[in-house]
Amino acid sequence: MMQDRNGTGIGNRIGKSLAAGSGEWKRAIMRGLGCRCPACGEGRAFSSYLKIRPACDACGQELHHHRADDFPPYLTIFVVGKIVGTGIYICEMHYAPPLWFHVATWPLLTVALSLALLPPMKGAVVGLQYALGMHGFGEAGPAGREGDNERGNTA
Ligand SMILES: [Zn+2]
Repeated sequence: MMQDRNGTGIGNRIGKSLAAGSGEWKRAIMRGLGCRCPACGEGRAFSSYLKIRPACDACGQELHHHRADDFPPYLTIFVVGKIVGTGIYICEMHYAPPLWFHVATWPLLTVALSLALLPPMKGAVVGLQYALGMHGFGEAGPAGREGDNERGNTA
């Protein structure tokens, strides 16, 4: 089993988070998709196009723990590939447009979709890491705050 820095199994944390059934992990991912702080949903998660703020302006949640790495580009390539690939297939099968249409449309759409989807994907990955208490989010994320939640502290 993978162990995080605190020596707690990541599988155990995921199990706790998912078993809680509170939907906090879904909420954290959705807030991240909106490029907002996964903890409060109010503060902005990004200080520039792809740079995550060290901490949330609204609630003070530290965000520098994230290790999104290559996962956001992977997700972006997967989603854009599905959309553009399906678009090319449907367009060609139903309308058979001239070659210039393909050359003019699909590369532009690919670049535009990639640039548009990369920040939300990164926000979602940070939200997922926050929700699962990964990479130093352990003390702050829902999985790591189980004791606090039992005491009624929801901050
Ligand atoms: Zn916040």
